[in-house]
Amino acid sequence: MTTTDTTQIRERLVELIQLQVLYDRLNAVRSRQGDLPQQIDDLKDKISTVQHTLSELSEQIRQIESEIRSLHVSNDSLRDHEQKLRKKLEAVRTNQEYFEIETEIKETRLTIEKNLQDIRRLQHRADALRQKHAEDETHLNELHERVAEKEKRLEIIKLHTTEQEVYLLEKIEALSQELRKHDARLFQLFERRRRSLRGGKAAVPVIPIERQEGRYACSGCYTLLPRQLHLEILQRNKIIICESCGRFLIDEEFYTEVAKSIP
Ligand SMILES: [Zn+2]
Repeated sequence: MTTTDTTQIRERLVELIQLQVLYDRLNAVRSRQGDLPQQIDDLKDKISTVQHTLSELSEQIRQIESEIRSLHVSNDSLRDHEQKLRKKLEAVRTNQEYFEIETEIKETRLTIEKNLQDIRRLQHRADALRQKHAEDETHLNELHERVAEKEKRLEIIKLHTTEQEVYLLEKIEALSQELRKHDARLFQLFERRRRSLRGGKAAVPVIPIERQEGRYACSGCYTLLPRQLHLEILQRNKIIICESCGRFLIDEEFYTEVAKSIP
């Protein structure tokens, strides 16, 4: 069945307005989530970066601790060696032998000192890394808390909106079926416009232009409408499409009336 007489056209216009209003409500409900899901994803990315840094820090600390341990081990055996050399020194017979052992003791002392310096240097480094690790851990906990807080907020919003979304989608589906049954081409045109135009607005009221008495514009693209076209829109018995943006143009009062009548 296609739209022919004026009463039918008026009914189609009502259906177009109703569909548009329901879609607007659906979009408003959906937009309540805002960019929360994106914020949560961003925070989770940060968390995994910090976790990666933390495990790298732990690995570096482990390596340094193991270096320190082996330096201690090496100093222990150097000290044993020194002890033995000192004992040997007591039993030497020649100056040459004495000199050689003395030199070896000095060298051993030097190595022990050098190792001790290295241990101190490594301990400083490990302390700095532990400090950084502790700070990052605090930061990580804060990030976890922020994610948890945002996820909770999103859950609450979803809980409130799912019900409304389902209700609106059901109404939209029923109304779409009606319009498709009455005028399939009109329905398809509406759907195409709704999907392609900014804000999903396929049917819009015309709006008066300031400082231009009696002149009206499309509220979708703000193109000034010819007086004659506006008069036709006022009749509410013709499907009129904006020449510049392709939206269905509807008398403002008519649009408001129908919108208000939707529960
Ligand atoms: Zn327009």
